[in-house]
Amino acid sequence: MVKREEVIRLEDRWIAPVFQRRPIVAVRGRDAILWDADGREYVDCMAGYGAAFLGHCHPRVVEAVKAQAEKLLACHGSVYAEARAELLRRLELIAPEGLGRVFLSNSGAEAVEFALKAARKYTGKREFIAMVRGFHGKTMGALSATWNPKYRASFEPLLAGVRFVPYGKAEKVEEAITSDTAAVIVEPIQGEGGVYVAPEGYLAQLREICDRHGIVLIFDEIQTGFGRTGKLFAYQHWNVVPDIICLAKAAGSGVPIGITLAKNEILESLSIGEHSSTFSGNPLACAAASATIDVLIEGRLWERAERLGKLFKGFLSRLAEKYRVVREVRGLGLMLAVEYRFDILDVLQGLLQRGVIALSSGTRILRFLPPVSITEDQIEYVAAKLEECTEIMERERLKS
Ligand SMILES: *Cc1c(COP(=O)(O)O)cnc(C)c1O
Repeated sequence: MVKREEVIRLEDRWIAPVFQRRPIVAVRGRDAILWDADGREYVDCMAGYGAAFLGHCHPRVVEAVKAQAEKLLACHGSVYAEARAELLRRLELIAPEGLGRVFLSNSGAEAVEFALKAARKYTGKREFIAMVRGFHGKTMGALSATWNPKYRASFEPLLAGVRFVPYGKAEKVEEAITSDTAAVIVEPIQGEGGVYVAPEGYLAQLREICDRHGIVLIFDEIQTGFGRTGKLFAYQHWNVVPDIICLAKAAGSGVPIGITLAKNEILESLSIGEHSSTFSGNPLACAAASATIDVLIEGRLWERAERLGKLFKGFLSRLAEKYRVVREVRGLGLMLAVEYRFDILDVLQGLLQRGVIALSSGTRILRFLPPVSITEDQIEYVAAKLEECTEIMERERLKS
């Protein structure tokens, strides 16, 4: 076994220095708990950036992956595969109405790449409208629709003809439309941008605008999909169905998979060779996704996410009432954020020292993407530790 210090040395030596590191060497995970190389345990409210929504190493997923690994690991999309068909049978049950075709890939960014290409192909138009604070991934196409200048600046020129408009204002989308607009891409709840929930009526207005102008409406549900927000998919909160939906993160419970579901006519506009990927519909990824969907559906786990999310958000909202350093609490289900008035680096580190892993968004927003298998006790534990850290910030920042 490689020692903790050696793991850190090797990773720091070899991996491109693009990750903001935490001083944890992860060894093992189960449900909402992650163990590090020193045997310390953490309540993991990052959980693979939302990938381990069922909890780390859900036994049904582990079993499915093991069984598939013994049968077939490599199968290109040009050969039919049983494991792929198994996943399609499940997608048939859960796909939004009218989205009857799919392209399978390996990541969120790839799911977005394909959505953008499909929208161009189908409409014959080139431009996209994306949102301020929107996040869609970091490959060149997806990055072109990602707003944050910090991610974009060094890599320009990106795709020409992407216009960014403020999130939540449908009239701004309408103003940005040209005769060459192919698609509007939007997150029903902005994740990386800081957990901003679509205002009431917004998505319905976008649907109406896109219909009126013959523009493809793309929902990026890579973070919100598969139960996280209290519905199987976040669009169900507003009953607005897009033309294309992008999924990834929780889809494979940690095994890489991207899923782009679209209307038949959109994907039927593509012809052989216009898009593909060696690992598209990979049997291992399909087996993991099938097991994930089974567990979600059988347990109706989005309902648990809603219930636990309310409990969690209740604790966070009490903090907001009690401490002036807390500016706002946002989110739906188990996708939650606390915005502070000051830099949260100390809060993140304080939580880590107290056995809680959380995420940040920018410098002042703390985010939680816990697994749905988190217990009420663990939520209370996280809330108590967060209160300790918030109290310290309040004392230090607001000495009066
Ligand atoms: C994470 C994320 C992506 C990118 O997914 P990757 O698998 O990291 O490429 C795209 N869109 C949203 C909304 C995401 O949260």
